[in-house]
Amino acid sequence: MADLAIRGGRVVLHDAVREVDVLILAGSIIRIVAPGEGDAAETIDARGLLVLPGVVDAHVHVNEPGRTEWEGWVAATRGAARGGVTTVADMPLNSIPPTLDEAAFDVKEAAASAGALVDYALWGGLVRADPEALRALAECGVVGLKCFLCPSGVDEFPHLDDDELLPALRAATRAGLLVAAHCEDEGIVARATAEARGRDLRAWLESRPIDAERVAIERFAAAAKVTGARVHVVHVSSADGIAAVARARRAGLDITAETCPHYLAFDASDLDLGPLIKCAPPIRAGARARLWEDVLAGHVDHIASDHSPCTAELKTRGNDDVFVAWGGISGIQSTLPLLLSEGMNARGLPAELLAQLLATRPAKRLGIWPRKGEIRVGTDADFALVDPDRGWTLEREELETRSGLSPYAGRRFRGAVVRTIVRGRTVYADGEITGAPGDGWFVRRLVA
Ligand SMILES: [Zn+2]
Repeated sequence: MADLAIRGGRVVLHDAVREVDVLILAGSIIRIVAPGEGDAAETIDARGLLVLPGVVDAHVHVNEPGRTEWEGWVAATRGAARGGVTTVADMPLNSIPPTLDEAAFDVKEAAASAGALVDYALWGGLVRADPEALRALAECGVVGLKCFLCPSGVDEFPHLDDDELLPALRAATRAGLLVAAHCEDEGIVARATAEARGRDLRAWLESRPIDAERVAIERFAAAAKVTGARVHVVHVSSADGIAAVARARRAGLDITAETCPHYLAFDASDLDLGPLIKCAPPIRAGARARLWEDVLAGHVDHIASDHSPCTAELKTRGNDDVFVAWGGISGIQSTLPLLLSEGMNARGLPAELLAQLLATRPAKRLGIWPRKGEIRVGTDADFALVDPDRGWTLEREELETRSGLSPYAGRRFRGAVVRTIVRGRTVYADGEITGAPGDGWFVRRLVA
C-alpha cells in the first residue's frame, strides 16, 4: 500500500496532461493509476488543480555562507517552498568562500544541509584552469561550473579573460562538467558605460547593450567549439541572444540557453522601478514581446529565477544613482506564478511546455534527471499543485526574501501555487510553510 495518494488532479506528464492519480511510497512515485485505483494511507485532494512536477530552479544565489545577511538558505528555500520550487541549484558566488574547490564545497554543503527546506544542488565555480580542483568538484557531485566573461560584481570571483577562457574550458571538459557562462563582452560594456548619460535605469541599460550579450555568446560558443565543451548560457535577456545560441547549436555545438522571469515580466513601462529591477544583462526596453515569442516557439531551453537578493540598503542606495545599487532580482517565489499568469493564462503556454521549461529540461541539463524534474514512476515525489485560475496579489508581507524587497511585490497574478511537495512531504500548503530547515537533501549530479 502507498503511504500517500494525490487524487483528482490534472497531472502534467511528459507528453500530456491526464486525469490520473499518483501513488507515493517513502518519497518516491510508485504508480500512476486511473482515478480511484490503488490504496494509500493518506490522500491529498487535488480536484480542480494542476499537478506539475516541482520546479527545478537551475539558477539561484543563496549567498550563504559569507553573505547570509543578503539572504541565506532558510529565507531562499522558504521562498522556494511558496513558489512551487522543490530543487534549487545554488550558484558558486556570492557566497564566501566561492565554491571553487572541495573545501569550499564542504562549507557550502554544510550550510545548505542545515538550512534548506527543499532539495538543493550546487554549482562549482570556474575562474581558472585548475584541473585538480575541478576534478574534485566533479567528484563532490556539482551540477556544472559557472564562469563570467565580464566582471562578476564581487572581487573574490574573477572573470575569465581571453587568455584564460580556452584552458579553463579544456579543464572543465576533462573533468566532465557542463560550463555555464554569464555572457556580456567586457570591452563593449566598458565603452558603453563611459558613454552612458545619466545615472538612472535607462543609463544602466544603455551601458550594457544587446551587442555585448551577442558578441560574448559568440565568443563563448567559439571557445566551446575549439575545446569540445558542453556549454550553457545563463540569463539570456534578448531574442538576439537566443538567436546567437540557436546558430551555435545548428553548427553542431552542445549549447543551451536559459532566460529568466524578469525579462518576461518587465519592459520599458516598468523602468521607474529603478534599482528593484536592476540586473545584468539588463531588462531591455522593447525586448519582452520577442522573448515571449521565443519561449512559446520552444527556442528557449529553460527558465530559471536568477534569484539574486541583497540587503535592502544595497538596493535603496541606488535610488538616485542606479549604478551604485546591487544588480540582482529576488524572484524565486514568483517564477512559477509569473509563468502561470503571463504564460499559461495570458499567452496560451501549454502546461506540458511549462513543465519542460521549469522542471524537466533544467533537471536534464544539470544531470539530475530522472530523479528530479518529471512526474514518472521511480522518481522523487516532488510536485507543485497549482490552481491555474485563481487571481491573487503577492503582498509584501508574504515575501520570504530577507530584504523584503522584490519588484513582484504588489503584483497581481492569475494562477497560484496551492501546495508544494518534496519527496512526498508537504513543505507549503494554503499560505502556510510546513517544511523546516534541514529537511532539504543534497542532489548530486547523476550523469555527465
Ligand atoms: Zn546569477
